[in-house]
Amino acid sequence: MRKHDHIAKFYNLYVDPHGAFGEIHEVEAAVTTEPSEHGETAVMSYLFRDPLTPEQTAGIDAVLSPEGIVPTYAREGTLLRFPLAYATFKAPEAERIDRILQALAEAIRALGIRQWDRCGLCEQEGFDTLRLMNGAAMKTHDACYDRLMAEVEAAWRKQNGGFRTLFKGYSWMAAGAFLGTLVNYFALVYGEVQISFLYALVPLFGLLMYRASKVPHRREYPFILTALSVLFAAGMITYVYGLYAQSWGMTLLAFLRDGIPDVPDMFSIYVGEVLYAVIFCIAAVAVTWRRIPRPHP
Ligand SMILES: [Zn+2]
Repeated sequence: MRKHDHIAKFYNLYVDPHGAFGEIHEVEAAVTTEPSEHGETAVMSYLFRDPLTPEQTAGIDAVLSPEGIVPTYAREGTLLRFPLAYATFKAPEAERIDRILQALAEAIRALGIRQWDRCGLCEQEGFDTLRLMNGAAMKTHDACYDRLMAEVEAAWRKQNGGFRTLFKGYSWMAAGAFLGTLVNYFALVYGEVQISFLYALVPLFGLLMYRASKVPHRREYPFILTALSVLFAAGMITYVYGLYAQSWGMTLLAFLRDGIPDVPDMFSIYVGEVLYAVIFCIAAVAVTWRRIPRPHP
């Protein structure tokens, strides 16, 4: 569980891959998990309509300071953020945190601090959904949100999709996959025993090289990696069978179709080898498939 999950569960908040948001003691708030000196910590965010006045920030500080919490006021004083440190979210700690958040909610009301009552993106009336935006809970129109996402995605594509960048990432990936294929070549030709799981090295080396190229992960890279690995491994196996065929003075086609005296059904063995390669390549990609960073406002 990440830190924000505890608070989300306690207050029945909506959970988003990047955090959680909803109402805590009838005040809209968001909570995210962020790195700190002592591992991860939960960070609370409260978004307000107007910049806070000195009296209002003093009122909030008066609630948080006795608890040793140092708040920050970002976005021109409209965003209150503070870390909420706890070891385990169980009673007495959960009770202490609930007491703090309740006191804060009461202070926000008492100080007349207003939250947005309309879409925070276009600032027009009404809203459809409360969303987590940049770590803060914000009311939004669905249409405004979709438009923003399209813009963010377009910018993201432009930044990451340049042909040179793409070419660099995938050529490094191909070099890695080639290296992995080379290992399998030596194992297949000179190895005493067959070690099929070595085929997993083909995509793994491809992945390592792709990472080393520092090109951002793209959505389609697991598919390209799988395709590339299967292609390289199957190509190498076919090449090796071609060498065997040559040593018997046969064409590859005849070698696979007719086999040799000891091994009449060469085709099944060839297909089996290719199948192992395919299975281990796909398995390796599936295991290492990390969440691909997606555009986020
Ligand atoms: Zn809007």
